[in-house]
Amino acid sequence: MRKILFATSEVHPLMKTGGLADVSASLPMALSEQGQDVRIVMPAYRKCLHELGHIDSVATIKLEGYHLPVEILQTTLPGSGVILWLVHSPHHFDRDGGPYSHPVGHDWDDNAARFALLSRAAVALATDEAGLNWQADIVHCNDWQTGLVPALLAGREQRPNTIFTIHNLAYQGMFSYDTFKSLDLPDALWHYEGLEFYGQLSFMKGGLIFADHITTVSPTYAEEICTYEFGYGLEGLLSYRAEQGRLTGILNGIDYQVWNPETDTNLSKTYSTKTLRNKAANKLAMQQEFFLPENSDSLLIGLISRLVSQKGIDLAIHALTNILEAGHDIQFICLGSGEAQFEHELRVLRARFPDRVAVTIGYDESLSHQIEAGADVFLMPSRFEPCGLNQMYSLRYGTLPIVRNTGGLADTVVDASDENRKAGLANGFCFNDASVVSLQQTLLRAVGLFARPRIWRSMMLTAMQQDLSWNHSANAYIELYQSLAKR
Ligand code: ADP
Repeated sequence: MRKILFATSEVHPLMKTGGLADVSASLPMALSEQGQDVRIVMPAYRKCLHELGHIDSVATIKLEGYHLPVEILQTTLPGSGVILWLVHSPHHFDRDGGPYSHPVGHDWDDNAARFALLSRAAVALATDEAGLNWQADIVHCNDWQTGLVPALLAGREQRPNTIFTIHNLAYQGMFSYDTFKSLDLPDALWHYEGLEFYGQLSFMKGGLIFADHITTVSPTYAEEICTYEFGYGLEGLLSYRAEQGRLTGILNGIDYQVWNPETDTNLSKTYSTKTLRNKAANKLAMQQEFFLPENSDSLLIGLISRLVSQKGIDLAIHALTNILEAGHDIQFICLGSGEAQFEHELRVLRARFPDRVAVTIGYDESLSHQIEAGADVFLMPSRFEPCGLNQMYSLRYGTLPIVRNTGGLADTVVDASDENRKAGLANGFCFNDASVVSLQQTLLRAVGLFARPRIWRSMMLTAMQQDLSWNHSANAYIELYQSLAKR
């Protein structure tokens, strides 16, 4: 049994902006089920404090660079026995708004100080400077918010091994040199082989340079980030680490408790591979809910996403507009929030085709389950996608994903080509170019195949039978932890 400290800035269901939160709950749970002593550390955001009620404080620690001591609150991750440590520094985390941004959307001005504090608290917990009589063998860090952990630990003689997982290389935690100075970090870290990146402080680089091992969330993305197109200038460093054998892609799993069409209480009617016909009730419920014609023959397309350029929302809007203008029999339900321009364009699309398009701007967990169950296909035309969870939820719900061939989408979705269908492998639709024309052609291919129920049904079964659980991936992480201990 290894002692693993899992450091993260969001954990479902306490705080979530995206896939990181899902992984930060389900991976520790899977590791714990496999007998590992795993503990999670995250900030005590106001939302967490409200939801969890009273939590005991188990330590008070003074961290370098901060005037006031912080408290460590201890509870367990809801629905599991996994110990959760919350870093309670009211000045930094007890406020309204998101984990990274103000209620009106712009990033918090003190994000560097907030997540340097999280990183320092993680170091104190991992090395037992917090005095909790527990010392980590491995610190598993996630994304830029915890990037300083490997950097701060690197200089120490007795230290845990460090793993840094990239969930999305696009967000790097870049700040000014003045901010670097204000954080009281060791001067030696201001170096191109340290935290400095073209004159700025990069939290992400702390993980990429100093972690004993880097992982990312799919094998294809692990290769992509070593290229100019996906590397944001870090491709040289990442290629070097890959050549050393220190960069691995491990595909995320999904939480089979939360995402299971057989037991999902959000659904109008639950279903499984044996009761597939019950899925239709969920489609009807969505059509009724959104005042769309109650027609089982219209291809119902779902989309749930952060509305940002990464996700190819512009491609989706244009391709759907063209297809609707041409009079094809489709319906489209979208749930998301993000950039104002995309929200506006989606509302315009809805206004133009009110009996074909439904748009909910916002964040709604229960509705996301209902759309996954009710839609026939799920649209995910991402420009890049480190892993992507929604296509996996879709597969499990028999809702065929339409995806661009990139990152984790390429690793999980097998296109409905004649060859793949005959081999019984096809579970969705893939396209290569990030262009409206390519997406449009692929959508029309889906419309065509949807009119052939036997083929469609067999693809649904292939999708639903795919193993997307954490078993395999949790084992891959455990093997990695073991190999680090031996190095
Ligand atoms: P990313 O982390 O890049 O946003 P992922 O596909 O890895 O993308 O994970 C997104 C997660 O966030 C999924 O669990 C998805 O269902 C959820 N999600 C995104 N937008 C919404 C929304 N508006 N309402 C409910 N859930 C959402």
